[in-house]
Amino acid sequence: MTVQLVGAGPGEADLLTVRAARAIAAAEVVVFDRLVDRSVLDLISPMADRHDVGKTPGQSSSQEATNELLIELGRSGRRVVRLKGGDPFVFGRGGEEALALTSAGVAFEIIPGLSSSLSGPLAAGIPVTHRGISRGVTIVTGHLIDGECNSFVRLANPELTLVVLMGVAHRAEIARQLVLGGLTPDTPVAVIERAYTASQRTVRTTLQRLGNTDIANPAIIVIGAVAAMSLNDITTELATAAW
Ligand code: SAH
Repeated sequence: MTVQLVGAGPGEADLLTVRAARAIAAAEVVVFDRLVDRSVLDLISPMADRHDVGKTPGQSSSQEATNELLIELGRSGRRVVRLKGGDPFVFGRGGEEALALTSAGVAFEIIPGLSSSLSGPLAAGIPVTHRGISRGVTIVTGHLIDGECNSFVRLANPELTLVVLMGVAHRAEIARQLVLGGLTPDTPVAVIERAYTASQRTVRTTLQRLGNTDIANPAIIVIGAVAAMSLNDITTELATAAW
């Protein structure tokens, strides 16, 4: 029997892949994280064992314990699902867990999920790339392992969209560095909190105002011209066409 490393998607359960939904329903043991939506957890069989290994920001000390748990459960021969928010391999430490299983000789299967980095902006009608407006997207974390702010000066590029995960705490510093790197202070910024959950919220701001904008985790920060777009809004559509 193998351990299945499963992406839970950004929020509500109907954004799971069909493969993920089947694996969750068939699991005998599920190991899950804080970011997994309640509606996804509701798909777990009442007969299955549940292990909540959720971490709050800043507490990453238990990764080794999680690896050990997965190895032990994998060896038990039961159907094990390791469930993580979004895609497990986009800032989800899926790679570390996969390597730990490999070195312990435990087989695994990967079931990808819809990452909040690409789908979260769409919850606010923002495409991460758009012909004539953004020719690419950079997905980056705001946090480094030691809790310091990642370096953003060299990421400043008006032709690209920047999607920052885990960026709430350092948002003022991120904005400062991007302006230092050459982005204009009025560069559009959109923040999508709790995308695809019942409490989703979007805040539109600019680089200059980002530091003083009230936002809460978990949130996606989108920086660049596309952040001014809202595909559901006819006025945005016309403005884009005129450009
Ligand atoms: N593996 C996940 C990301 C994990 S890192 C994925 O692919 O989506 C955790 C960060 O992801 C959060 O701090 C936040 O920046 C972002 N995030 C995850 N789910 C989110 C959601 N539903 N809404 C907004 N941001 C989310």
